[in-house]
Amino acid sequence: MGGAEALAAAARHLAAGGLVALPTETVYGLAARADDDAACARIFDAKGRPPDHPLIVHVTDARAAQAFAATWPDAAQRLAAAFWPGPLTVIVPRRAGVAQAAAGGLPTVGLRCPAHPMAQALLAAAARLGVPGVAAPSANRFGRISPTTAAHVRHEFPAEVASGALVVLDGGPSDVGIESAIVDCSGAQPALLRPGQLGAAALAAALGQPLAAAGPGATKAPGTLASHYAPRARLHLLTTAALAQALGGPAQPGVAVYCRTELAVTPGWHIQPMPVDADAAARALFAALRALDGQGVDQIWVEVPPAQPAWDGVRDRLRRAASPFLES
Ligand code: AMP
Ligand code: MG
Repeated sequence: MGGAEALAAAARHLAAGGLVALPTETVYGLAARADDDAACARIFDAKGRPPDHPLIVHVTDARAAQAFAATWPDAAQRLAAAFWPGPLTVIVPRRAGVAQAAAGGLPTVGLRCPAHPMAQALLAAAARLGVPGVAAPSANRFGRISPTTAAHVRHEFPAEVASGALVVLDGGPSDVGIESAIVDCSGAQPALLRPGQLGAAALAAALGQPLAAAGPGATKAPGTLASHYAPRARLHLLTTAALAQALGGPAQPGVAVYCRTELAVTPGWHIQPMPVDADAAARALFAALRALDGQGVDQIWVEVPPAQPAWDGVRDRLRRAASPFLES
């Protein structure tokens, strides 16, 4: 099937309530029409995701977003104007009776307009078939690493792909590589629930006001659970100094090391270099963790990223991938 034909077929599958793997610039999404609660239930089923964990609704533009919103706060408007299409999700009050299942029953809804040309083309084709938006969390089983290629998605959902329940579109590797930044615009002051490629400074500049930190009273965002994005191998975050010391000693079997700094290494260590640029590191992160995990190592030791704003997104994902083991 050619590109245009595959896209048209995927749009028809979506419109009929089926699942489509949606290539986006952040990660691949597992998409279903957002206005169909039964279709959205298929997402939760396939992922093994608890039904009260809300999904992000993807739309063609800010106008389409407003069909899901009870009100369109000034903060959402400013952010959409500055960053859409792009790797940003805004949380706004949800219009009553719309996208109930997609929103996990919350009175708010997360909305994003993706920049990936294939995502845009699919959303537009689906819109022509009467689909107002598509709900799409990352196309991985609950709690596992987000996919950044079509091959990753096929690996996560082999049965659904084989049965035809899930149609996979291949849009190449995701350019950003980590999930969208999420800003809650439903309260008095916008709050950053999850950093992405876009960090607090860029978002605050577009808003013309500082962001509130997501405190205990803030909206629950399941993407911010401790055990998210976890590989099967144990992931440990090590300072550069601790890593330098370990790598100077005897190699440990079953340990893969993902590090940015060039260190003096005793032969035998399994080392995978991490890009030194923050955006490049984000782009490579999930594929690298997935590949190391696939090699059957017991532990992945990752060098802690620099404490700079550009690294906020990568640091956040690594902390979550590591935290179940740090806490235990
Ligand atoms: P995922 O793409 O797997 O990270 O899933 C989407 C994420 O968007 C969820 O895990 C939440 O963190 C976030 N999200 C979506 N809708 C809402 C909402 N109404 N309120 C808070 N967070 C949301
Ligand atoms: Mg996810």
